Amino acid sequence: MRRFSADFIYTITGNIIPNGIVVTNDDGKILAITDEKISLDPHIERYDGIITPGFINTHCHLELSHLHQKIKKQQGLISFIKDVIYTRNFHEDVIHEAMKKADEQMWQNGIVAVGDISNQSISAEIKQKSKIKYHTFIEMIGLDAYKAQEIIKNAIDLKAQFKTPTSITVHAPYSISKELLKELKRYCKNNENKIAIHLQECEAEAELYKGKKGAFLDFFKDLNINAETFKAQSKNSIQAILPFLPKNQKILFVHNTFTCLKDIYLTKRFELDLFWCFCPNANLYIENTLPKIDFFKHTNYPITIGTDSLASNDVLDILSEIKVLVKNTKSFTTADILKWATINGAQFLGLETDFGSIEVGKTPGLNLLQNLKNGEITDKTTLKKLI
Ligand SMILES: [Zn+2]
Repeated sequence: MRRFSADFIYTITGNIIPNGIVVTNDDGKILAITDEKISLDPHIERYDGIITPGFINTHCHLELSHLHQKIKKQQGLISFIKDVIYTRNFHEDVIHEAMKKADEQMWQNGIVAVGDISNQSISAEIKQKSKIKYHTFIEMIGLDAYKAQEIIKNAIDLKAQFKTPTSITVHAPYSISKELLKELKRYCKNNENKIAIHLQECEAEAELYKGKKGAFLDFFKDLNINAETFKAQSKNSIQAILPFLPKNQKILFVHNTFTCLKDIYLTKRFELDLFWCFCPNANLYIENTLPKIDFFKHTNYPITIGTDSLASNDVLDILSEIKVLVKNTKSFTTADILKWATINGAQFLGLETDFGSIEVGKTPGLNLLQNLKNGEITDKTTLKKLI
């Protein structure tokens, strides 16, 4: 049995407990949470700072870990994607080694569960052996409407190669056909299948959707992508795809860098089980832009946090994402953002029975955050993984 105490215990779903004590068994299962201070108890591990549950990273691409520091910063999304496509093929051993290191880095940084996008099965074994709980999103890409059935068939085959939880998703509005989205919706009718879609990560996505114009057309040409079946929609990507999304599945919109208030209000009209995911460091890395975080005060859907991959981030560290978010919002506090980093992500991944909050019976992991200023996370804040 272990007893942890700090200035504040952020239980997340309950009260913030000053000088609280969290009692766990040796496996990290929470046995009790109390504010009775047995100050002479020599077995209490007492810390300055706050204790939170382990963090949930709802967006990563483990299989791109070997591209760490390989892709030039702030070149824009289209250039970034090209670089990833042209440079991602390394020897399997190099990719394995990089994924192993990334997995360990996330664990050390207090991340206990990850939603991970995969285009291949190379990460399957690491996920199975990891201390981290993974949910893999098998990602479908394909702008050619005639290929939709073949693409989903391949995704179902790939899914079978993972022994940890998986579901099938589509990449982003600019890389899929309406038919592929319809195939996914059909699949979702009979299968539990959460979805994670990259959304509004660059301005060119809206240009493509509104008028089949802009930088994506050159991109398609350069990469020999057949865009003939893609039709202009006279509306932006979020407006175009919302009617085609399943109502019976959890859906994560990832990035939302160019999401405007009108888009946020529009989502309210659809009865979706929707979550928004912010990956601010990746947005700074790729586009040098951030989502209008304060706009999301007007959403009725939960927010989560992702690191994206090491191709677009220096480090896989939710605390580092929180620091950017805290600095760039006037509407949300550290306490709000800690919910995004914990229980909201756990709920999206369907792990809230064990993760996301400090409650008796759960095994959420415990993080100690130190060097806060008046209870708020700053650039100086540090993390120590307790469990
Ligand atoms: Zn991504």
